[in-house]
Amino acid sequence: MPIPEAFRRRLYPNLAEIAAHFGTPFHIYDEVGIRQTVRELYAAFDGLGFQEFFAVKALPNPHILRILSQEGCGFDCSSVPELILARQSGAQPGDIFFTSNNTTRAEFAVAQADGGAYLNLDDISLLDRIPTQPEIIAFRMNPGSDMGNAIIGKPEVSKFGIPREKLVDAYRLAQAQGIRRFGLHQMVVSNERDAEVLLASAQLLHDVACQLKSELGITLEFTNIGGGLGIPYEPNHKPLNLPQLAAGIRELWRDFPDTRLFMESGRYVTGPQGVLVTRVINIKDSYRRYIGVDASMPALMRPGMYGAYHHIDVYDAAPDSPQEMVDIVGSLCENNDKFAMQRPLPTVNLGDLLVIQDTGAHGYSMGFNYNGRLRPQELLLRADGIIERIRRPETLSDYFATLDHVAPDPFEPPRTPLN
Ligand SMILES: *Cc1c(COP(=O)(O)O)cnc(C)c1O
Repeated sequence: MPIPEAFRRRLYPNLAEIAAHFGTPFHIYDEVGIRQTVRELYAAFDGLGFQEFFAVKALPNPHILRILSQEGCGFDCSSVPELILARQSGAQPGDIFFTSNNTTRAEFAVAQADGGAYLNLDDISLLDRIPTQPEIIAFRMNPGSDMGNAIIGKPEVSKFGIPREKLVDAYRLAQAQGIRRFGLHQMVVSNERDAEVLLASAQLLHDVACQLKSELGITLEFTNIGGGLGIPYEPNHKPLNLPQLAAGIRELWRDFPDTRLFMESGRYVTGPQGVLVTRVINIKDSYRRYIGVDASMPALMRPGMYGAYHHIDVYDAAPDSPQEMVDIVGSLCENNDKFAMQRPLPTVNLGDLLVIQDTGAHGYSMGFNYNGRLRPQELLLRADGIIERIRRPETLSDYFATLDHVAPDPFEPPRTPLN
């Protein structure tokens, strides 16, 4: 989506000065927009015991997580660093949902420390890995061939979750081990803007809930419908109809008045509320016109990784500027290091600022250091209008840190190598 109008109005009047002050590139996030989105979610699902557990991997910055915590969000975590981030950002016991996979005992131990977390198991075998038997447990369902979409793939070839036909047995086994309180989880669609598809996935959870009730006498304490709510990345995309989704969920949940509704959205909450601002440093005409910018794939992987579309503005372009067809590229020695391919844009000049949009989720967090490229800073446009640096740019010493203080630890292997 073109940047939300309210965010644009708060950001654009001062963008040149912000870029001059902090230097480029940077991601910048809109506090007001994030708070408002969360409030809309809570309003939509009011009365259902609703809680949003923000998917930390989407935007793992404690300044953002604190804002979300103040708005009543818990956190969906899948690793030890994410658990630490969540706890440092104000999460209380009961505010953490630990949805990991291929999990170790040590990771469960951290999840259970400091007041604990909801443990959501990706497989029945993981029940034996949990150091202390929990009072309440959830299982992640993999519905098989019934669901799935482009980013997350087909459930029957996805590594996540417990097959539908084994799911009831998992609860039975947990009951046999003395566990009495249960939840149910699913995350099978990603970036889905069609409320009907999201409701179809909620329907599957509803059906399992019915079966658990009738076969095992289990009343679920919560059902977590996962994340995966989509956002309109392209200008002609229709946004998700949240009231339609909420109405459908309300209908389904009528059968389970005592079951709370949990959600673990990332993209929907922060995606549109962030942009990557980068400066044009080279323009090259070969077989195509290439606009070289001072950010590379480490700042935003989605276009290179999924061919994902991110809308791009040329900041302060003349309104009557003719359009030209360009590729927007970074500096990696990889030809997929492009933020856009054959995109019509107003005439771009050296030194211009480009605003790459919808980078508030799965943007900074996916970055990597291939080719020795460093990740950018993150800024927060606060509700009071002040711009705050909430993560500094990576430095060369960050890049070289794992080479410092390396104990050589020479090891002579016991066997003579064959040759
Ligand atoms: C990534 C992920 C999410 C968040 O996905 P969004 O598309 O950002 O909503 C939620 N739950 C799980 C288990 C995930 O892996």
